[in-house]
Amino acid sequence: MSILVIAELDSHGVKAATRSAITAASQLGEEVHLLLAGSGVEGIAAQVASINGLSKILLADAAEYAHGIAENLTPLLVQLAPSYSAIVAAATSFGKNLLPRAAALLDVAMVSEVIQIIDATTFVRPMYAGNLNATVKAPAGLRILTIRPTVFEAAAAEGGSAVVENIAAAAYEGDTGKATWVSRDLVQLDRPELATARVVISGGRSLGSAEGFSATLTPLADVLGAAIGATRAAVDAGMAPNDSQVGQTGTVVAPELYIAFGVSGAAQHVGGIKDSKVIVAVNHDADAPIFQVADYGLVADLFTVIPELTAALKG
Ligand code: FAD
Repeated sequence: MSILVIAELDSHGVKAATRSAITAASQLGEEVHLLLAGSGVEGIAAQVASINGLSKILLADAAEYAHGIAENLTPLLVQLAPSYSAIVAAATSFGKNLLPRAAALLDVAMVSEVIQIIDATTFVRPMYAGNLNATVKAPAGLRILTIRPTVFEAAAAEGGSAVVENIAAAAYEGDTGKATWVSRDLVQLDRPELATARVVISGGRSLGSAEGFSATLTPLADVLGAAIGATRAAVDAGMAPNDSQVGQTGTVVAPELYIAFGVSGAAQHVGGIKDSKVIVAVNHDADAPIFQVADYGLVADLFTVIPELTAALKG
């Protein structure tokens, strides 16, 4: 038996989060295969085959697998599952959308957001917005896991020599017709991706408006080469895009430096930043809970601090 990792793709190929899932899967002690399902992905199979730690690529290149539609990928997973002892994906929106569907259809209790692999059936995962870590034991048989990509180093993009097996010709279910691709609004940023950025600065609802959020944080982010995150309150208020939400129900980040401006420090936000190396908080309320997790705290008005900090860093 082997482990099957599900590849998540973007316009550059396989995402770094998938390479973290490969590292995690390698710790389960069996051969690791990668499902490369998409449309027009044959061309990247050779590049993907050189990711370190993989012994086989299952290439499913078909129109219905375009855009990672979970409704179409799930039947494929269900059909492949009997050949595998575990199915693994990163706990990203893609992985969190796909794997629970397969787990339900296969009647397997899935283990979500694994942060440590103790042995092939014993895993550590956060609970209660990261307030405690639970050690859980999966029953014998198929295990279905999402892993937190920020805690597993990405497998090297080079050094492997996996064989590529084309499975597109197999009679899989194809387009289930349950979801239709309409369009994607791609925000082109010339700054790092939130999940993998070395520095993240984020703002809360105290930034006041979408214009205020962007005008206040962007110059500082530019100087620091930082990704910009937001609290759910800021996202819900329309100040920041959905994909900038940091926390339990957004992106989990683990940068070298995380600076929170006007963020109260709710458990659901803190659960997504705890693995940051250094946390800095700026809040005008000295009793704000964010100061309990911050390595450095500044009780001050963010609208004063940010321009001063930006000017000082510019030099
Ligand atoms: P507030 O709590 O309103 O805090 C604003 C802060 O800004 C205050 O501390 C205030 O003192 C400070 N402030 C105001 N003006 C200034 C100023 N001029 N200068 C300095 N400081 C100032 N939240 C997330 O962020 N991520 C999640 O993933 C998430 N998931 C959730 C899931 C569930 C199921 C639930 C129920 C909630 C979730 N939340 C999440 C929401 C979370 O509970 C909080 O409501 C939210 O994080 C608060 O956002 P905030 O800090 O921007 O706003």
